[in-house]
Amino acid sequence: MWAVTIATDVSIVHRLHRARGRSHFLHGHTWTITVEVGTYDLSEAGTVVEFAPIKAKVREWLVQHVDRHVLLAATDPAVPRLAEFCCGGAPLCIDGEPTAELLAKYLYHIFYPVVKELMADRIKYLKVTVCEAERLSASYDGL
Ligand SMILES: [Zn+2]
Repeated sequence: MWAVTIATDVSIVHRLHRARGRSHFLHGHTWTITVEVGTYDLSEAGTVVEFAPIKAKVREWLVQHVDRHVLLAATDPAVPRLAEFCCGGAPLCIDGEPTAELLAKYLYHIFYPVVKELMADRIKYLKVTVCEAERLSASYDGL
């Protein structure tokens, strides 16, 4: 299988409102989001996927919807209180705590249709890895 990866750095503030300790409070990281796409069949151009369009779509989406955003659980009581201070007028809310693991799953479901549109049936594998800190990452691949 061949694979390509697209890595993008984004700044995100989050908190784990159910956690005890320091993670309970708002704090920020520079997160590295890596999207890995694999196939058994290269295109006629000899590529997994045309790199420029997928890179542009992934990075554009991350910059518009994630970078410099506040990431919270949809059930976090801080959501309405922080809205006026958030890029775009609202925090980015996901189901469950905004951990690297659940952000990876959330982004997998965002990027799968994007990659599928570019690769059609040649897509065999998609993995999103979220690196919250150096030497600490979580991945989701839909399997
Ligand atoms: Zn954190």
